[in-house]
Order: sequence, then structure tokens, then C-alpha cells
Amino acid sequence: MAIDCLVLGAGQEVGKSCVVVTINGKRIMFDCGMHMAYNDHRQYPDFSRISKSCDFNNAIDCIVITHFHLDHIGALPFFTEICGYNGPIYMTYPTRALAPIMLEDYRKVLVDRRGEVEQFTSDHIAECMKKVIAVDLKQTVQVDKDLQIRAYYAGHVLGAAMFYAKVGDSAMVYTGDYNMTPDRHLGAARIDRLQLDLLITESTYATTVRDSKYAREREFLKAVHKCVAGGGKVLIPAFALGRAQELCILLDDYWERMNLRVPIYFSAGLTIQANMYYKMLISWTSQKVKETYNAFDFKNVHNFDRSLIDAPGPCVLFATPGMLTGGFSLEVFKHWAPSEMNLITLPGYCLAGTIGNKLMSGNPTIELEGTKIDVRCQIHQLAFSPHTDGKGIMDLVKFLSPQHVILVHGEKPKMATLKERIQSELGIKCYDPANNESMCIPSTHYVKAGASDAFIRSCMNPNFQFLKSGSEEKSVSGSKCTEGTLPLWIKDERVAEGILVLEKSEKAKVVHQDELLLMLGEKRHEVQFAYCCPVNVDELEKFTTTSLTPTARMLRDPNKSSLIRLLVAKLSRKLSEGNIQDFGEHLQVESFHLSVCLKDTCPYRITNGLEDKPRTAFVCCTWSAADDKLARKIISAMENRDLVET
Ligand SMILES: [Zn+2]
Ligand SMILES: [Zn+2]
Repeated sequence: MAIDCLVLGAGQEVGKSCVVVTINGKRIMFDCGMHMAYNDHRQYPDFSRISKSCDFNNAIDCIVITHFHLDHIGALPFFTEICGYNGPIYMTYPTRALAPIMLEDYRKVLVDRRGEVEQFTSDHIAECMKKVIAVDLKQTVQVDKDLQIRAYYAGHVLGAAMFYAKVGDSAMVYTGDYNMTPDRHLGAARIDRLQLDLLITESTYATTVRDSKYAREREFLKAVHKCVAGGGKVLIPAFALGRAQELCILLDDYWERMNLRVPIYFSAGLTIQANMYYKMLISWTSQKVKETYNAFDFKNVHNFDRSLIDAPGPCVLFATPGMLTGGFSLEVFKHWAPSEMNLITLPGYCLAGTIGNKLMSGNPTIELEGTKIDVRCQIHQLAFSPHTDGKGIMDLVKFLSPQHVILVHGEKPKMATLKERIQSELGIKCYDPANNESMCIPSTHYVKAGASDAFIRSCMNPNFQFLKSGSEEKSVSGSKCTEGTLPLWIKDERVAEGILVLEKSEKAKVVHQDELLLMLGEKRHEVQFAYCCPVNVDELEKFTTTSLTPTARMLRDPNKSSLIRLLVAKLSRKLSEGNIQDFGEHLQVESFHLSVCLKDTCPYRITNGLEDKPRTAFVCCTWSAADDKLARKIISAMENRDLVET
């Protein structure tokens, strides 16, 4: 069983999130985003890789959208209305409500303001949204009889969700964007401890560890206050939903406390509509917002009019789109950037290639359609973002402990660092595939098995092990015991040992080993080890005559039984476990059997020159696999190897 992963977007980059996953034959597309730094074919995922014949309805079982950001949903109207996909699309209720606002706003930026050929129309957006099935958090949705999905709260933006998907015994989670700490208006991500084969997680801030949010909010407010106090204008380029609402709560509250009269503006009427949705969807926000009466009724916020761009006096303006990719925010930027009195605050991540990104990397001159803009205003980057930091990702991976992790939605070098950490610190296999790369991950498959009566009965049997004091357990007692009064240590390590029988067209069954022999009509075979061990008779005599054996004379010319007796004497001093039995001509300890070997060439003898030494006798030993450890100990003792150790 395996999970196949085709990364169509957000592979080693941020933008156009799209991962097509096949779990036991079921194919799910997670997110269908656009890349906002491009306006050529790189803008959309390469859908032809899903189906050469573009038969997407047969190629895909469903689409799951995690949240309304364009890098996660921007290509959806194109995929449904132009490419013709009309299968099920799942997203949360707030995402379904807010996504058309985002899509429409961006379409306007592209067509009305950038003059580009439109990729999809307003009608396309409306038709596309009709295909959407809205889901609740933690609601298990049966897409078909085999495929199950479930949404979990992800923080990040209103309605954002992580999605769990399961087919058979194989299960995975795709996080989308998430936040592990609550912010002004949203709570932190919450997910159950799930059994997962695969976790696909975003890694935007893979190597960042953030300090207290409070300090960073103060820094933002101080920068804004300083600018307006000096008569400057503050431009905050943001997308219609999400950041704008969070920062607005922060500013409105601060304005009240500081009794400020400087106007705060929102560009375009759409934010009023958005705020209405935020009020409606209040149950998806944070506890703090829920407890605040009318958190989205901003007292100091007004609509902005184009004529106000060059009006004198200080103000704060939220303008779309974010990252200064075009549209109204870029238009205002051209007017305000050349004055050192003004401030541009960039909230969150700015894609490479955007003006926002150039400003962040300290570019003082920006070229725009042939005209140079001298950037003399202050640039302030908000150090807080609705994405999790590196610690948050590690916490989530550790909490879920999946079998495998795939990193997407991040920058290549940072992803590589995080990948290393996940592998070395958590011991979980981790990958960071590039766009259009696919990978195969082994997944869980449980086999249901019946059990025979004999097997079940054997499981009930106690499995006592009797240990003489002197083994490792002895030290536990702490008391010294003399020979003869050895306490008996009993261990009951009950294990169910059986044999799994998988027969064609029959249900798997666990049987007792004796039953298997009957089934196969076979006799029991056992593996035996054998070794012909050299023994130094002189040393043996020295060792024993000084202590135990009074009949030293008799042993000058050892016969078989006297040699056995000497060995018994030696071994009973050396061994703490096992019961040594002297049978005259041979000795036995558990399955270990020893007899004197008089053959000139024994097949179990390893000749290494010892036979040339006088007074070397050979003893043939055999033992079963279960007593291998014991046998090695006895042989070491006989070859005097233990003397070196002690
Ligand atoms: Zn996002
Ligand atoms: Zn994203």
C-alpha cells in the first residue's frame, strides 16, 4: 500500500499551492492556487501532469481547498470553468463565503488595472463556487464509500482548515497554512492525535523562531504613531481579508486608548462587506474576539476616496492588493513613496519578484513601467505573520508523529534545514520535493486475522522463567546470599507467539506452532549449533586443585569422566544461571550438551594450532538456538576468554 504525491505547486517555493495525492487509488487535489509573481504559464499549476488527455473528472475524485488565499484557491475557477473539472470541491463554510470576494478583487486587479487578458470572468467565479460543498470543522465527510475527509481548525485566516484524508488503513494530513499561536482575531491550530502515514506541511517560516507577539505589536503601533504624529501618511498594502482585519482591530483599539483623531481608511468598499462576514462568522474567530462586543465595528475606520491620495495631512490607509503586485496599493505607493515623512508597512510574506519583496531587501529605487520611483519613505516590515514559525512546525510534527513528512510552501534552503531537523531530532523521514516532482510513500495496511483455539489457549499459559540469583536481577535485592539459600527469581513475560497463515482466497489466521506442523504434515525440526572446544587440561587442574577437588593425583591422566568432573567444578563457579548436570561421560546445562571428543578430525573443530600443545583436550558441544547466549558464556569460560575480561 502506498501514497503517491505529485507536487504541482509550492514545491521548494511559496505560491500556487497544489498537491495531488493518490491514496490506495483515490486521487485528491489539495489546494488549487495561483502564483502571484508571474503572469505567464507559471502562474498556474501544470494540470496536464494529472491527465494527458485532460479528462480531469475521471482523474480526480475530489478537490480540497484549505483557505481563501489566492495562492491556495486562485487557479480554481480556471480549473473548473476552463479546464472543465466538475467533480466535488470541499472547503469550510467561511472559505466558501469569502473566497469569491478574494477572487473577484484579484480579477479586478488583473483586468481593470493591469490591463491583462482575463483568465476567468465574474461568471466563472460564480459558477465555480456553485460546485463547492461546504464542510464544518471535525465533520467526517464520506466523499465516496472509500474516501473520508475531515477538517481541523488551522488559525491563519478566517475559515482556514487542515484536512485529514483516509482511504482504507492509509491516512494523511495536509495542513495548508496554519498558525500554532493565537493572534488578535483567530485562535491557534487544533488537531486530534491521528495515526498518519504522511503529513504534508507548509514551511514558510521554517527557520524562524519568533519572540513575544506583544513586543512586535507595540513596535508596529509605535512606528505608525510616530509617522502620523510627524504629519506623514501610512500605507499598509494588504489583501482584502485576513491581515487587514487583524491589524484594524489592533489600530482601532490603540486609537481609542491614545485618543487619536487621525483617519484610518480602507480602500474600496469590499472591506465593509468583508467585515460583515467576519461578524457573521464570529464563531470561527478567537475567544478574545468572541468576548468583545462588536469587535469588527471599527469606530475610526472610513472608506477611502481616490481624491484623498494627494490630500494634505496624516492618515493610515489599508489598500489592496498585498505585496504591491499592482492595483490600487501600487498606485498609492507611487504617490507616497518619494516623501521621507511617509511610512509603508508590509504585513507578512512578500513573494520574490514583487515590489513588496524589493522594498524589503532595501531597494531604494524601484522601476515601474519605465519610470523610476525614488523610495525615500520609511519601510517597516511587520515581524508577525499568520504562519507558524519553525518551532510551531516541529511541535506539530512531534505531536502527530507521522511516518513521513513532506515539506511544501517554503524556500528551498530553509526547507533543507528544517528537513534535517525533523530527521535528526524526531527520527521521521522527511522530503522537500520540487514542483512537478512526484514521490511514493509506503502506507499502512492492516490484515484482519482469525485465531485458532489452540493459539488462544497458548496465550493464556503462564510463561514463567526461573532465574537463580546471580544474574543481573540479583543486584536489586541488595542482600548477599550464600550458596544453597539462593532466592528464586520468577519472571512472567507472557508473549503470544503464533504463526500467521496467509492462504490464497482464505482469511488470514494465526495458529499455534504445533497446529502448523499438522497442517503441513511435517515433523518438527530444530536448529542445533555445534562446536568442538579446546580445553587446557593443565589450567583446568590448577584451577580446581587449589579449591575444590581433593583427588588431584587421580587427574594426572584425565580420562573422560574426570575431565567432565573438572569442567563441572569450573562451570559451577563461573555460571550463575542454568542447572549443570553431570552424567559422568557428558554434561548438560539446559539444551547445552558437552562430551569429550577423541576424534582426530572433528567437523566441528576449528584447528588453530592448539592441538599441537600438550595436554589439550577437546570437548564437543551442541546447543539449541534458544540457549545460544548461555552456550557462548560456557565456551568462553572453558577457553578462558572470560579471564581476560575479569
Ligand atoms: Zn495563506
Ligand atoms: Zn499560502
